[in-house]
Amino acid sequence: MITFKDITKTYPDGTIAVDQFNLTVEKGEFMTLIGPSGCGKTTTMKMINRLIDPSAGTIYINDKPIGDYSIHALRWNIGYVLQQIALFPHLTVEENIQVVPELLKWKKEKAERRTDELLDMVGLDPSIFKKRYPGELSGGQQQRIGVIRALAADPDIVLMDEPFSALDPISREQLQIDINRLQKAIKKTIVFVTHDMDEALKMSDRICLMKEGTVVQCDSPEQLLKHPQNDFVEEFIGNRQSPWLKSVQEVMKEDVRSVHEHEQENGATIPVKSTLEDAYKIIQTSDQTIFPIVDNKQKIVGVVTRDELLQYFYQQEKKGAGIL
Ligand code: ADP
Ligand code: MG
Repeated sequence: MITFKDITKTYPDGTIAVDQFNLTVEKGEFMTLIGPSGCGKTTTMKMINRLIDPSAGTIYINDKPIGDYSIHALRWNIGYVLQQIALFPHLTVEENIQVVPELLKWKKEKAERRTDELLDMVGLDPSIFKKRYPGELSGGQQQRIGVIRALAADPDIVLMDEPFSALDPISREQLQIDINRLQKAIKKTIVFVTHDMDEALKMSDRICLMKEGTVVQCDSPEQLLKHPQNDFVEEFIGNRQSPWLKSVQEVMKEDVRSVHEHEQENGATIPVKSTLEDAYKIIQTSDQTIFPIVDNKQKIVGVVTRDELLQYFYQQEKKGAGIL
């Protein structure tokens, strides 16, 4: 869908912001660019809708160089959500959302329908919010309007540059949930910029970790956590360990009485040294409801039930672990 081929951007003052950058974003993919401040995330993103032109290399959208599209056709097909809330203060919410549909000469009814639909999707009642001005909304509500405005004309691609950075933690989490839900419903190709690893892990199909204008590692959240390619990646991930790699001792109970009640001859056991991933594999091969955890002499040192283990994975999944 979007392909960067050997992209370099050198600013007039000689700063090399992006350096021989290669990346393909698949259709419908949620791709996050992450990395330290100044690593070239914004520059990379702005080259997609030609707010910045590369010094070398070519960007393709659907296999066609972006220079071959008319700039209007290109931009109207790419929604853009800025870091700072950027609604037009003198236009109502409805008018703000309909700016691009109007440019595209959509019929009024179609634009209205779309406006209501999008407001509903982010939990803002159209009958209340359509006629309001941006100044009559909270920061979180304004940013939600910013997001749906970018989606209004049904673009194939949406770019979001740190869209939550100005928000308080609660609005931030709400908007993360909204965007995840929107994405499931409408499956846009999204390029998302953040410097917050927790946010990236929660939202992305793949994460592209950048350093000094180049790609260090581009992988799914799970792969990044499980197989960081070098020290820089490990440091960036910090101590967020994949839930899969934690020890089964995370969920084990040391009260072993329940084991003896349920113990089966030759039943499956889980070695205490197992990771949760190993434990998950073991419970899949057995229909027991309860699993003794044993040391290397087969002595029972703890117990975990199937439900507890599945519940643990379910909770991790809800937090966006992407493991199941
Ligand atoms: P990020 O979004 O990852 O923080 P940017 O893409 O904004 O990074 O910037 C990458 C590098 O390019 C930084 O060193 C920044 O100072 C530099 N830079 C950004 N814009 C300009 C500009 N207009 N002129 C010169 N240097 C710039
Ligand atoms: Mg930036």
